Amino acid sequence: MDDMIQIDNLTKVYRAFKGAKEVRALDQISFAASRGEFIGIMGPSGSGKTTLLNILSGVDTSTSGEVIIEGQSIARLKKDKLALFRRQRIGYIFQDFNLLDSLTLKENIALPLILDHVAPQQINSRVDELMQFFGIADIAGKYPYHVSGGQKQRTAAARALVTEPAVVFADEPTGNLDSKSASDIMDMLTEMNERKNSTILMVTHDAFAASYCKRIIFIKDGQISVQIQRAGDRKAFFDKILEILSVMRG
Ligand code: ADP
Repeated sequence: MDDMIQIDNLTKVYRAFKGAKEVRALDQISFAASRGEFIGIMGPSGSGKTTLLNILSGVDTSTSGEVIIEGQSIARLKKDKLALFRRQRIGYIFQDFNLLDSLTLKENIALPLILDHVAPQQINSRVDELMQFFGIADIAGKYPYHVSGGQKQRTAAARALVTEPAVVFADEPTGNLDSKSASDIMDMLTEMNERKNSTILMVTHDAFAASYCKRIIFIKDGQISVQIQRAGDRKAFFDKILEILSVMRG
């Protein structure tokens, strides 16, 4: 099996303080993602999406169950190995971009490679190629506070992909964008997914963004409630997503 991500019986129980009622944020979630999949995670507020993404990316730990990425059990990595694994094998795209204001767009994209002591020539060619791809080569020397939200998100996407990670986690990547920038960034992620076979897992509330995925996993009360695979065109998939969301909301 060419599984890129494998999640087995993942459970997370929160207890705010001793004696408080426990919250089962994730309840025995299992699924696998193979190389090149583009998966959306959707569900009502409080269903466990953030918790899932935090555990997948090693920010938080599970109560039980296991996450395996590229054959590596995340929970078994020691702190420094986990940091290295996260930097080299996982790319992140966030709703609020998370760019460093003191660095130019080009430096922001290059940062993961600089931290890994990659040779400058190699850094230059990889960063330039991605900046061309994302249509931001002409603003390479600008700082984040001088560019639009759409340009910031293109930069964040380029940075997420610069290490050629095994998987990209995107957390509401279109949440702060106007509709034109949202469709641009989704088009680019789709092309990256198809061209480079990148594996992308995206949490989103946005049915429009989700309609670009090949598969959607809906979670409710910490459990997988339904999964759908895209068969036809994007519009039909979009309508189906809306329908499921409205049923889930009751
Ligand atoms: P979503 O991202 O789908 O909105 P979350 O993963 O943020 O859902 O939350 C899932 C459940 O876990 C909710 O009931 C939430 O209140 C609870 N929860 C999340 N984080 C904590 C925490 N640190 N302590 C206690 N409960 C939490």
